[in-house]
Amino acid sequence: MSQAITPDESICLVCNAPLDEVAWILGEAKLCQNCRKQLQVHKQAYRIEGRIWYVLYEYNDFLERLWFRYKEQRDIVLAPIFLEEVRASFFSKYCVCGLCSSEKKRLDRGFEPLKEIFMAQGIEFYSPFYKNRDWKQNHQHKQERKKIAQILKKKSLYPLPNKAICLVDDVCTSGASLEAALSQMDCAMVFVVSAHPVWIQEHAAMRVSLRKVPWK
Ligand SMILES: [Zn+2]
Repeated sequence: MSQAITPDESICLVCNAPLDEVAWILGEAKLCQNCRKQLQVHKQAYRIEGRIWYVLYEYNDFLERLWFRYKEQRDIVLAPIFLEEVRASFFSKYCVCGLCSSEKKRLDRGFEPLKEIFMAQGIEFYSPFYKNRDWKQNHQHKQERKKIAQILKKKSLYPLPNKAICLVDDVCTSGASLEAALSQMDCAMVFVVSAHPVWIQEHAAMRVSLRKVPWK
């Protein structure tokens, strides 16, 4: 049975269940306990070719549905939930640069999903890349990796602040897009909100334990 919700009642942004009052008062909760436990927290760092990659969540069915609802069904109210676990202060000394959707996707959606989730945490966000056509990611073979390198381009006139660059993306499937971006820009580190289990498995040997981490 659904409950009547008064306008000032705090509810889970995903399922509309009432939130834990204490967490809500502290301004920490946007998700109910039940939704939160379906997110598969990963919080691991990897050293790949001398660069640290941080992974917040492992991609699972729940997150797949959330990304779909947020990005394709344009449920923009979900923007604050994806980075609820990060410390915004960690990113303040970096220039956060995100990968992008194709121009077509961006126009269809009317917003840039990755940008909105960082902005929701008060983190400044830059988009120095563009895609010259639409591209559906999957577990590509080598030739397809070459293709993404041809599609993902760096904007020629796009001023960035003079800070170390942190390259970010929402979903790391094969890592091909991120690798294409890294080949065009000098980035200090990589942060991905969610990585596919196959990527995680393939990089298990590169996992490192660090004291300085971007999450709570
Ligand atoms: Zn919920």
